Amino acid sequence: MKKFNQIFKDAENKITGIAAAPGIVIAHAYLFTKEKLVINEGEITNVDEAKQNLVDALAKSKKELNKIFAIAKEKMEEKRAAIFEAQVMILDDPVLLKNINDRIESEKKQPEFIVNDEISKYQSLMMHSYETYMMERAGDIEDIKNRIVRNLQKKRWESKIKNDMIVVSDSLTPADTILLSRSNAKGFVTDHGGLTSHAAIISRSLNIPAVVGTHNATKHITDGDMIIVDGFHGYVLVNPTTEQIDFFKEKIGKLVELQKSLAELKDQPAKTTDGKEINLLANVDVTGEIDLVITNDSKGIGLYRTEQIIEELGELPGEDEQMNIYLNLSTRIYPKPLVIRAFDIGGDKFKFLDFDEPNPFLGLRGIRLLLENQKMFKTQIRAVLKASKNNNILFMLPMISTVREIKRSLEIIHECKIELKEEKINFDKNLKIGIMIEVPSAALLTFELAGFVDFLSIGTNDLIQYLIAVDRGNDLVSDLYQEFHPAVIRTLSHIVKEAKKAKKPISICGEMAADTLAIPLLVGIGLTSLSLAPATIPYAKRIIRSISFEKSKLLAEECIASATVEEVTEKLEKFFKDNSIKRTRNII
Ligand code: PEP
Ligand code: MG
Repeated sequence: MKKFNQIFKDAENKITGIAAAPGIVIAHAYLFTKEKLVINEGEITNVDEAKQNLVDALAKSKKELNKIFAIAKEKMEEKRAAIFEAQVMILDDPVLLKNINDRIESEKKQPEFIVNDEISKYQSLMMHSYETYMMERAGDIEDIKNRIVRNLQKKRWESKIKNDMIVVSDSLTPADTILLSRSNAKGFVTDHGGLTSHAAIISRSLNIPAVVGTHNATKHITDGDMIIVDGFHGYVLVNPTTEQIDFFKEKIGKLVELQKSLAELKDQPAKTTDGKEINLLANVDVTGEIDLVITNDSKGIGLYRTEQIIEELGELPGEDEQMNIYLNLSTRIYPKPLVIRAFDIGGDKFKFLDFDEPNPFLGLRGIRLLLENQKMFKTQIRAVLKASKNNNILFMLPMISTVREIKRSLEIIHECKIELKEEKINFDKNLKIGIMIEVPSAALLTFELAGFVDFLSIGTNDLIQYLIAVDRGNDLVSDLYQEFHPAVIRTLSHIVKEAKKAKKPISICGEMAADTLAIPLLVGIGLTSLSLAPATIPYAKRIIRSISFEKSKLLAEECIASATVEEVTEKLEKFFKDNSIKRTRNII
């Protein structure tokens, strides 16, 4: 620690951010910029020139797309590659092209304005179509629209990402994160974003070190700079000194050692020193993670974020495609359970609606969006039911805030079951249905809501943001996003008590479950099932194996009685010190 301070004390090359995904990496920086398109609505003086510009931009877009289509066919399934083929076809659509050309002539506005306007009309029609296929295509249209506009503006389309570099960006969407990881990104550094933004969660899932919310990393780092990302402490060092490089290389060595010793815990139970067994399950965001789930010996999958399938595929998968994904996963982990969560679309997750919501986190998100788009919801329910023949699938509903939402969802599930029966398709007749408790109204009504379902899972990522009124992805208020806020702890304790009163199983699947400092508190509150990123399971197991359940209960009581975050944190830290328990942060 002393050496750490010496090296960092006066370091001018240090950028501080939020430690979003653990790990240390030393590599060159890759500045990833996504310029926001500004559409010029201005008048044109030369119609012929404008029309020629359009012809050129269309030809260039077509050439680019044909190239992407060729690569896509090599790298992915035919079906997915066909997206690009469809985009090429749009470029040749005679009705669209005629409309655009006619409007350039009559309105004498910039082609980019007319292209944007005309294609947006198509998009909007598709978004409001009841045909799933049409809705799926609307996202592709966005891509093609941006491509033509960019080419009209003669801007370069930066789609190539260099391998083995640390991606430095203003912000990252979940889709960027996945896409970049495929190009072997070694780490992520962003100006914006918080610990529980979905991009941060995905970095953790993919085991890629990340520091987010630095405010100004893109200003201080230039393309090709050597940088060190310390995802444990939230530091980035730009063009490090030899002393700094040596120090971090030593740390990386220690980390490898630690991971080896954690691997040895694989076959040991997650039991407290006084014999209380805690079930450690895995949160799965991306399909690649399933190997880690198996390697780290979890008790099953406690949260499968299915909306990530849409991210990965780039489109809404159909019923049979979904069924295959779910069946595959349930078979691979059989007989362990797989909790499939219904699509949680909205909030900071990818854009699905064609309009901007003023408060997306308070808008049409999770169950609300599903109940408004029943076709999509039913497709997913039917796929889950069809995949349930191993009898190890459970189905969970996100963002529940009222009894009515549960009742309506149960009715729809019932309708799907009747349909499948009529179609003589086999499914698990006792498929268990659960809900996420992640909205304060649901937390207060835990007992009542529990009466309608088979199980409950606490989503602290959202619960904290809604309880404290702090955006989970906004770095400007990230210091107010406090998982140890006494109001959070009291709410958690209330939920667990009420669930037990209703005799329904309760678990927790928010990021808080992966914070080693929080674990004794969660166990002390009475949670016996924690679902966390697979890579963090060994760390959690090590903590559980070194704490006493009885002492954790006393600790929880003290924390519940506290009035401030500082008091709670102090008590937790003291607990670790008094019981000589080492946290990962202390070791690395
Ligand atoms: C949560 O809110 O805690 C949760 C697990 O769901 P997500 O992070 O996907 O919103
Ligand atoms: Mg949530």
